[in-house]
Amino acid sequence: MSELAFQRCIDPKCGGTADLSDTSFRCPKCGGLLDVAYDWNRLPVPKTLKHFEAKWSNRTDPLDFSGVWRFRELFPFAPDDRIMTIGEGQTLCQRADGVAGYVGLKPGSLYLQYEGMNPSGSFKDNGMTAAFTHARTVGARRAACASTGNTSASLAIYCAATGLMRAVIFIGSGKISYGKLSQALEHAALTVQIAGDFDDALRRVQEVSRQLGIYLVNSVNPFRLEGQKSIMFRILEALRWEVPDWIVVPGGNLGNVSSFGKAFAELTDLGLIDRAPRLAVVNAAGANTFHQLFERHGLRWNAGQFDRPKYDAYLTAMDAGNLRADTLASAIEINRPVNLPKALRALDRCGGVVREVTDTEILDAKARVGAGGLGCEPASAASVAGLRRLVTEGVIAPSDRVVCVLTGHVLKDPDATVAYHSSDPKTFEEKLGKRGVKRVAFANRAVQVPNDLNEIIKAIELYA
Ligand SMILES: *Cc1c(COP(=O)(O)O)cnc(C)c1O
Ligand SMILES: [Zn+2]
Repeated sequence: MSELAFQRCIDPKCGGTADLSDTSFRCPKCGGLLDVAYDWNRLPVPKTLKHFEAKWSNRTDPLDFSGVWRFRELFPFAPDDRIMTIGEGQTLCQRADGVAGYVGLKPGSLYLQYEGMNPSGSFKDNGMTAAFTHARTVGARRAACASTGNTSASLAIYCAATGLMRAVIFIGSGKISYGKLSQALEHAALTVQIAGDFDDALRRVQEVSRQLGIYLVNSVNPFRLEGQKSIMFRILEALRWEVPDWIVVPGGNLGNVSSFGKAFAELTDLGLIDRAPRLAVVNAAGANTFHQLFERHGLRWNAGQFDRPKYDAYLTAMDAGNLRADTLASAIEINRPVNLPKALRALDRCGGVVREVTDTEILDAKARVGAGGLGCEPASAASVAGLRRLVTEGVIAPSDRVVCVLTGHVLKDPDATVAYHSSDPKTFEEKLGKRGVKRVAFANRAVQVPNDLNEIIKAIELYA
């Protein structure tokens, strides 16, 4: 290949490649997943990561203002004049001593990477701006995704803000939180609600996109993962380019962990960092395919020759048992993670682990994050709940430097938050009890008082 950027099969033995403009997102030789690959020797790569700090002085340039594109030399697949940015990636890496205490880390050891600050309120914008840019370079007029909510919200907002494409969104029935559904509708996306769950919707959107030639932005799209690498670049920058010991991230379709692994592999290969952090992926117990396969069945990357029959047998057994993903953390309610092979590679490269946490652990962790001043949705808090387990197990030491990625904003799923803190037993039972949550540890109940000044004053003096 003489191109500076192209697509390449993730299986090194296969060696299949595809043109940069190919939009099938499947290896033409083996049907497997593709990476965006670069001929780094012929590309201008900065000598040190400090180079990127200088971009802050150039914030009037929209590409340098973007928290994604100011790192574009590390994913150079599009010419500057084709890049579509809406100012994504202005996010925060905040030291969180209160949450550190909750998970058993020393003060100063825990940072929360808050991706809820993105334009659509989740980390998905990091990837969407990249996929959208690729879609534009190939002249797409329509873009589609299946979504548990945040990918569709992100696609809708990019289409609405730029007017370049029509968004077509597939959602499962009843499984999308109101915050996310409202975004798809408000931003004028064509919203197709099919009778089925996320895994069904994903299968259908792939068929439909192929048949109608619609550009697919699900995380099987390798260009999205290029943009998501910038989350790691921003973390390193916030830590003054010191590599943390651990990155902890919730696992759904496993796009994030795959992208993070690729980022650290490339930074190491390019000599821009001297070691990679370890990666911890956290599943919800009700959607734990990756945890099962990695920790219980010992599935490993094995230089690309991972045990596919074992993987297929697991999925077949899951279908035979009609096992459906079920967790309140709807953004990770996924039983067939499309990026599983890439995630195996990421954990191999970075020395990773996988854990699962219950919905109760997730909601309690979410409340601790909230009490510490950052609001996140349930799926995001899985990272904190998983970290707590890993510290308890002794896998992560109290003095290790850890960054948890908070993937989405608290307002994405107000139902879960209100039910958690509700003093009304019916609301609790309806929203949480029925889904297996027995009791919660950190409910902040509203205080009921009569409409009487003295009673109100008495209540305030009593509680605050
Ligand atoms: C999409 C999403 C996830 C899951 O990320 P993957 O890359 O699919 O593993 C986690 N949290 C939130 C809030 C999400 O929107
Ligand atoms: Zn291949």
